[in-house]
Amino acid sequence: MDRPLMISALLEHANRVSGDREIVSRSVEGPIHRYTYHDAHTRSRQLAKALTALGVQLGDRIATLAWNTYRHFEIYYAVSGIGAITHTLNPRLAPAQFTYIVNHAEDSYIFVDLNLVPLIEAVAADLLSVKGIVVMTDAAHMPESNIDNLLCYEDLIDGQSDDFDWPEFDENTASSLCYTSGTTGNPKGALYSHRSTVIHAYASALPDVLNLAEREVVLPVVPMFHVNAWGIPYGATMTGAKLVFPGPMLDGASIHELLVDEEVTFAAGVPTVWLGLLNYWRENNKSVPSLNRTVIGGTAIPQSMIESFQEDFGIEVRHAWGMTEMSPLGTISLVKPNVPAADKAARYRSQIKQGRPVFGVDMKIVDDDGNALPHDGKAYGELMVRGPWITSGYFKIDHSEAHDHDGWFATGDVCTIDPDGYMEVTDRSKDVIKSGGEWISSIDLENQAMGHPDVIQAAVIGVHHPKWDERPLLIVVPAKDKTPELASINEYLTGKVAKWWLPDDMIVVESLPIGATGKVLKTELRAQFGDHKLPTA
Ligand code: ADP
Repeated sequence: MDRPLMISALLEHANRVSGDREIVSRSVEGPIHRYTYHDAHTRSRQLAKALTALGVQLGDRIATLAWNTYRHFEIYYAVSGIGAITHTLNPRLAPAQFTYIVNHAEDSYIFVDLNLVPLIEAVAADLLSVKGIVVMTDAAHMPESNIDNLLCYEDLIDGQSDDFDWPEFDENTASSLCYTSGTTGNPKGALYSHRSTVIHAYASALPDVLNLAEREVVLPVVPMFHVNAWGIPYGATMTGAKLVFPGPMLDGASIHELLVDEEVTFAAGVPTVWLGLLNYWRENNKSVPSLNRTVIGGTAIPQSMIESFQEDFGIEVRHAWGMTEMSPLGTISLVKPNVPAADKAARYRSQIKQGRPVFGVDMKIVDDDGNALPHDGKAYGELMVRGPWITSGYFKIDHSEAHDHDGWFATGDVCTIDPDGYMEVTDRSKDVIKSGGEWISSIDLENQAMGHPDVIQAAVIGVHHPKWDERPLLIVVPAKDKTPELASINEYLTGKVAKWWLPDDMIVVESLPIGATGKVLKTELRAQFGDHKLPTA
């Protein structure tokens, strides 16, 4: 019973019982690459030997700056498999943040995809701990570069045999590291362990969570640099599901091609990506018969998107909520079996909520003094969580304000929990709009506004009002060939939200600023429009 939970065991198991199941990737070089769990196991062990030969030791941080591909998958297993730590870097970070994170983590090697080499070149001189850069390609594609100690991935593993047994060590050994995107202050590192990762993989595979299984064909659009692609590279491997990696091409047409060609049954990603795909399907009159389920999370989903997937394309939407600090799975929204199929309104009411906790996640909501609030669907307070895959602190930070003595982690999300256990995020505490001493949920307003036919995307921020303190300003991206009017949107919103929530003004923009993890950057909107003068002021 006391066998340690090891990440390497996931791949060893897949090799043994689903060795012929495929892993398909759109490679960064261009062509579709196709091999099996058996091949991945062989090459991961070759890479493990190569890393050992480079002198990589238990606890060393090995960074990746890479898209979702088979090579990135091999690195996940080889690095953690020898007791080192896979540190995923987000290519969409600003250079200063990128340098800060590499230096803070003290990464010793960085594995980088071919088209991302210039990002490293730009900051190479500032990366203090890095001993070498491994380009994830073969000798024929190696770029010209002035980086010192540039290594070639395929050369590195070519020289190694796969005669290697995965070592066994304490399951609490750190396995991977992911920094939060740092919308406030410096980014902070969430460190996962072999134990937390394997337990999270078990939980993620459950039927009412991601429903991973050998017969499934899984396409994680969510990047492997964003909370380990929500753990899919581990959960899929545990079950032997066929994996399809989209590489660097995340536009609607490229994703559609993979979905169809590989007969994908399940895909996961943030709403901005699905917006692109839904538009592509509508404009080109396309659909994907094999796709029956999608998990969407990272930011709230508007009901209009759930409806479109389910009613227009017959694809079930599972709305998920989580955080980098939570590996990331927290809740998932499935409709309870006792809600009649005909009662669409009730079904959507459940689906737009962030959902019920996955087994393993404990939740409570508290007021400003830390007192627990009732789960009546009305009282709202900060959501606190704890569980075996929720990090207990931040990497190399002695004291975390967000973690308390009883093991609860303060999420920064303001939420309600209803009697059935469904959690609903009202807002992030820093985005909530405080009007006349009451709170207005920016998320709720945005989701409702996105149901208006003239609006494709919406964001709401609070701007100063002399009487009410703050009032909502609506910022919208118009639907194709439409000119949204505030009066018409407010008329549409009336009855859907409280009257005093209706936005005081509206700004139409071509696009919204999107951050490194695919979410609308409220900080940037506040910097740009925070001084906006309201007509009601
Ligand atoms: P960051 O905090 O760096 O943006 P995370 O990816 O860890 O990165 O973001 C976690 C936060 O994202 C949550 O605390 C929550 O505010 C938001 N979030 C995630 N999923 C959802 C969802 N389904 N609905 C609303 N908000 C969500």
